[in-house]
Amino acid sequence: MAFLADALSRVKPSATIAVTQKARDLKAQGRDIISLSVGEPDFDTPDNIKKAAIEAIQRGETKYPPVSGIMPLREAIAKKFKRENGLDYKPTQTIVGTGGKHVLFNAFMASVNKGDEVIIPAPYWVSYPDMVLLCGGQPVFVETKLEDNFKLLPEALERAITPRTKWVLFNSPSNPSGAAYTRDELKALTDVLLKHPHVWVMTDDMYEHLTYGDFVFTTPAQVEPNLMDRTLTINGVSKAYAMTGWRIGYAAGPDRLMKAMDMLQGQQTSGACAIAQWAAVEALNGPQDCIPKFRKAFESRRDLVMSMLNQARGLKCPKPEGAFYVYPSIAELIGKIAPSGKVIATDEDFVSELLEAEGVAAVHGSAFGLGPNFRISYATSNEALEDACKKIQRFCASLR
Ligand code: PLP
Repeated sequence: MAFLADALSRVKPSATIAVTQKARDLKAQGRDIISLSVGEPDFDTPDNIKKAAIEAIQRGETKYPPVSGIMPLREAIAKKFKRENGLDYKPTQTIVGTGGKHVLFNAFMASVNKGDEVIIPAPYWVSYPDMVLLCGGQPVFVETKLEDNFKLLPEALERAITPRTKWVLFNSPSNPSGAAYTRDELKALTDVLLKHPHVWVMTDDMYEHLTYGDFVFTTPAQVEPNLMDRTLTINGVSKAYAMTGWRIGYAAGPDRLMKAMDMLQGQQTSGACAIAQWAAVEALNGPQDCIPKFRKAFESRRDLVMSMLNQARGLKCPKPEGAFYVYPSIAELIGKIAPSGKVIATDEDFVSELLEAEGVAAVHGSAFGLGPNFRISYATSNEALEDACKKIQRFCASLR
């Protein structure tokens, strides 16, 4: 009898965590490493949010919170959806989890039966397919193209839908490509979904506040209110308020799904950390001035990285509308030989040789389901980014 669960054989460890660990190990050996693999803002959590957490501790908010979240946070979430997205959710239609990752997992766990299909546009965030597989579902990948700025086209979505499709997953702005859908682009996709009433929409809006230039963020249930009763809108405080370590994510959706997720969470983690929930109340209800500040810093870093990478020999880097990632193609470099003598046969070879030769850690595109590309997170200082991009330029120039 096998000791470990069969379900584990369906999944693999997160590639981003693996690369980050490798960079850490090399650093510990004394190597000079610039890590561009981590997906978290380098800013500190704003002081007003920290203060709210300290006050919550002092008030004694240290007991088990309700499973779906403390009511002040669920009210703040309903208000946020109304204020920023024009969505009418009752506080009882919301749920708070231990990070957006937890909420996503529980949504699948609460709804996916064996063999149910989940449409995932590629490139995708590494965890989506493995979550679906763990829940017994079948990820159905739809590849996007660099020429379309890595956006799913309505025809491709239409082709991917079958009678077994349960969910289609949107993530705009996207991790790893940074691509974000305009209202019209999203409407063209929601129009397809109107024709298929059995398909539900899961939208991961984690990077909502990180969009650049005059881009206007929209979310599926806002663009097509007729989809409201089969849409789960997921968001969180990690990226918008530099709160990755507080582990608070949330979602809102139709009553019957929210009740199921509440029941599941009640037998699993119960309510998320009470103190972090009070911090999240302040994040959503308090001053919002950190958002434009972070956005401005990220936008200038995006422009810096974009321009330097597009000057590197053999790289092609489309301009992302949001998040803090770029996803350049290395198609022209496949088959070339690295200074170590190794042939660059895949994007995984590229990032591993780059790490060896120049000490720059990035994540290979095939981990996100679309290559040959690599992902750089520009959530780090301008100096480190400039240094890293120079090293990438030098590495690309050294390939023969
Ligand atoms: N969704 C996407 C696309 C992400 O990139 C991340 C984090 O990297 C998450 C969800 C999870 O965020 P958290 O669990 O920190 O709320």
